[in-house]
Amino acid sequence: MTLDVLIIGGGPSGATTALLLAEAGWSVGLVEKKIFPRRKVCGEFISVTSLPLLQKLGLEEFYLKNGGPEIQKVGLYADDVILTANMPSTETSKNLWGRALAREYLDTKLIDKAKLEGVRVWQPCEALSLHQSKDGLFTCSVKGNNKITMITASLIVVANGSWEKRIDQVENKMHRDSELLAFKAHFKNATLPENLMPLLAFPGGYGGIVHSSMEKVTLSCCIRRSLLRELRLKNPGIHAGDTVYQYILSQCRGAREVLGCAEREGNWLAVGPIKPGIRSCYQNGIFFVGNIAGEAHPIVAEGISMAMQSAWLLSRCLIHFKLNIRGGNYRDDAGAYYTKQWRKYFSSRIHAASFFAQLAMMKPWSRSLLLPIIKQFPTILTLGAQLSGKIQHVMPIEEI
Ligand SMILES: Cc1cc2nc3c(=O)[nH]c(=O)nc-3n(C[C@H](O)[C@H](O)[C@H](O)COP(=O)(O)OP(=O)(O)OC[C@H]3O[C@@H](n4cnc5c(N)ncnc54)[C@H](O)[C@@H]3O)c2cc1C
Repeated sequence: MTLDVLIIGGGPSGATTALLLAEAGWSVGLVEKKIFPRRKVCGEFISVTSLPLLQKLGLEEFYLKNGGPEIQKVGLYADDVILTANMPSTETSKNLWGRALAREYLDTKLIDKAKLEGVRVWQPCEALSLHQSKDGLFTCSVKGNNKITMITASLIVVANGSWEKRIDQVENKMHRDSELLAFKAHFKNATLPENLMPLLAFPGGYGGIVHSSMEKVTLSCCIRRSLLRELRLKNPGIHAGDTVYQYILSQCRGAREVLGCAEREGNWLAVGPIKPGIRSCYQNGIFFVGNIAGEAHPIVAEGISMAMQSAWLLSRCLIHFKLNIRGGNYRDDAGAYYTKQWRKYFSSRIHAASFFAQLAMMKPWSRSLLLPIIKQFPTILTLGAQLSGKIQHVMPIEEI
């Protein structure tokens, strides 16, 4: 049997694309290599800009019920500075706010929904290679249960995130000192105010803390590889996650105050290097969505929203072009349009995130110049949240 589309990766971008295309009557397959529920390195905050999409997917109630408290304030914990400001709001958000939802819930729910919509899911199953025949059909070899299976599809959507090998490329194993490695852990009994999401800014890295599902607080952060190596040499035998945690506490008074009495729940998770930047949305007949197409520095906590919103964009493009270019090869037209729209909606978030990340990681001498200015104008934080996409609503794709 030939599927209309095979999606590789079942994170927020892959599962959302699968769900939307299945709803439109497409025959959809999805391969996901991990068993769900699974924890994932992520701050778990979902911007209110994704609410209209969650509503369309029938997940609004789930999000409100299982997510953490509403986040109405942004903050900055850097050195001894503790600042808070209002999260920007828009008329369209009608006093609704974003909140964090644990990835164990979100990703599992999305895949379950996709299955209910008729998506055929191979899980745990890893996509190994792709081959395109002369007639344009793709064959993907996948491995699950120690068995190799071949799946044929007219279209391929790659949604396997950015921290793993891209299926159609050779892995680059060269490491650079400036690369960022990411960590995450859940905590109980933190004293972080419920409605606040502070940004942690420290030399060589940044992070964030937020209340998430099940009354847990999520700490996620990124740190330069070279700095981590240095810190680990000073603290041999200590887990990398604990080393980073101790460093953050030593650098940010705010983190010490809210996490000082907290207990970690579960292991540290680590991933990396993370690869912020704009990549390809369409290449050689293959579509890319979510982090693999482009990734913002996690400092802006927009990755899940961008993953789901880009899935929405891609599925609308595919549905539209398939309907309107009957019998012809609509892939290139859809790919070109999708790429153009993707850049229009997401590039600015990626550039803003990159700017904020550089500021957050600054060396001590430049921090000592900048922090007093920010202290005078805490509303800069509101503006920063605005620029990072916190008020940009799901794009009007109906207009394609
Ligand atoms: C430290 C940190 C904090 C963050 N905090 C936030 C935040 O607060 N809010 C926010 O919105 N975003 C945040 N992000 C970003 C967010 O986690 C990502 O942008 C998001 O997960 C991207 O979704 P995705 O579906 O594109 O990829 P992923 O979520 O990475 O999903 C890819 C899936 O593909 C599967 N896969 C990979 N290779 C294969 C294969 N060969 N075969 C089959 N399956 C495969 C993987 O198992 C995975 O399930 C953070 C990221 C980091 C690093």
